Amino acid sequence: MEVQTLKYPAIRNYVAGQSVESASTPTMDVFSPLSGQLISTLPLSNAAALDAAVQAAKAAFPSWSATPIKERVQIFYRYKTLLERDMKALADLVREENGKTYDEARAEVEKAIELTEFACSMPQLIQGEFLEVSKGVEARAERKPLGVVASIAPFNFPNMVPHWTIPNAIVLGNTMILKPSEQVPLSAVKIAELLKEAGLPDGVLNVVNGDKEIVEAICDHPDIQAVSFVGSTAIAKVVYIRATSNLKRCVALGGAKNHLMVLPDAHPEMTASNVAASMSGCAGQRCMAGSTMVGVGAIDGIVAKIVEEAKKIVVGKNLGSVISKEAKARIEQHITEAEAAGAKVLLDGRNAVVPGHEDGYYVGATVIDYVTPDMRIAQEEVFGPVLAIMRTNTLDEAIAIENANPYGNAAAVFTSSGSSARYVMDHANAGMIGVNIGVPVPREPFSFGGWNDSKFGACDITGKSSIEFWTQLKKTTTKWNPESRVNWMS
Ligand code: NAD
Repeated sequence: MEVQTLKYPAIRNYVAGQSVESASTPTMDVFSPLSGQLISTLPLSNAAALDAAVQAAKAAFPSWSATPIKERVQIFYRYKTLLERDMKALADLVREENGKTYDEARAEVEKAIELTEFACSMPQLIQGEFLEVSKGVEARAERKPLGVVASIAPFNFPNMVPHWTIPNAIVLGNTMILKPSEQVPLSAVKIAELLKEAGLPDGVLNVVNGDKEIVEAICDHPDIQAVSFVGSTAIAKVVYIRATSNLKRCVALGGAKNHLMVLPDAHPEMTASNVAASMSGCAGQRCMAGSTMVGVGAIDGIVAKIVEEAKKIVVGKNLGSVISKEAKARIEQHITEAEAAGAKVLLDGRNAVVPGHEDGYYVGATVIDYVTPDMRIAQEEVFGPVLAIMRTNTLDEAIAIENANPYGNAAAVFTSSGSSARYVMDHANAGMIGVNIGVPVPREPFSFGGWNDSKFGACDITGKSSIEFWTQLKKTTTKWNPESRVNWMS
């Protein structure tokens, strides 16, 4: 019998600084969406495999949390240089497992570097507080780590999203379990190996592969103190409820439906290129994708320019694949249904084929006009390179459409009027707002996180807000002088 050699060796878990066999036997195939080819397999770990990783993280915690933060960050300074050294290999890996273009994959690694740089500034950011609260009595407040924490990631940014949590949580003194998406498990192993090379002690970061079973085990494990999750809203809700009902901290980021409001006074060329890039970047598989545009008033000229821009997006060249056969079918079904419901398909990306990659999962850039708010394409997350355009007469009607959607990740306005921009900033019901920017990702030190059904939990996942999530405050009151003046509290 012919034994098939896979491009990448079978994925293993990473526990206590070693690549280990998972305690469970079932495995899952990993396909490259670029070609549809089987490239690796991964273990569907069970609760026992998770427990082994948690015990390693628990054993590493006392020493790691006792290491001064100025020493902990030195490892991440070194790690940053390794990310730069291996940039091409890391980007190639992202491209292979996720299907995005090389430039998009590289941008993802560049963002991981920025996230690492932010974590390196942590000693300056978490400096404690101190006050003499009465004569000879001193109070201080310090940020302390939580213990073993977990990070559960989605498929769409195999390198960047793990970096939303790993550098901050670990620099702040926690030890971690990373559960990558089972659809893109290659980058996570590489991240763990590079951190070891940078000097991270064994057990501080552990990677456990698997699907639903392992996520549920994370939510239930008594030795995990906090869970961060990034994925679809339906699963984010389940994870948030399960983790918090087990008395853990949780921040769970969900899906999105981001509205781009375009006014007739918007700069036509800039708006067209921004809107086209927002809907099609990473094949529309971004929680920040502007998948829905609301055109206010006379904007036919801008719509024509958007179509012109979208025509320049060539599948297989500057537009990557979507993640799976199922995703391709779901996206194409959305287009077909919208057309049947009366919307006008101005540019049709269905049935896209890339020569030489006939089995890859490709959808071309698609622009659909005259979508109405009641259509499924206007309500659900499509997660493909598809722009659904709705039309209104007033900005208030556009805001009403945006406000009515249950998500709240991002919203943007394109205009040359300061007062219209300010009106959208004040009235859009979303956590991240763009003015003449189609993908308004807050860069460090600002924090990333949406509102409503796009995020459950109090803190954001990156930036300054995440410091609150990954730490707890210790308040100490001290008196050394027996003569000191005391009040009723001291
Ligand atoms: P997903 O919800 O299917 O999977 C996310 C994680 O949950 C994976 O690790 C997966 O193994 C696990 N999972 C899947 N089914 C589960 C179940 N039934 N029970 C428990 N765990 C389960 O999401 P995805 O398809 O990998 O990623 C795409 C989604 O993520 C989109 O909705 C996108 O908007 C969202 N996303 C949101 C943000 C954000 O910042 N809000 C960022 C990136 C992606």
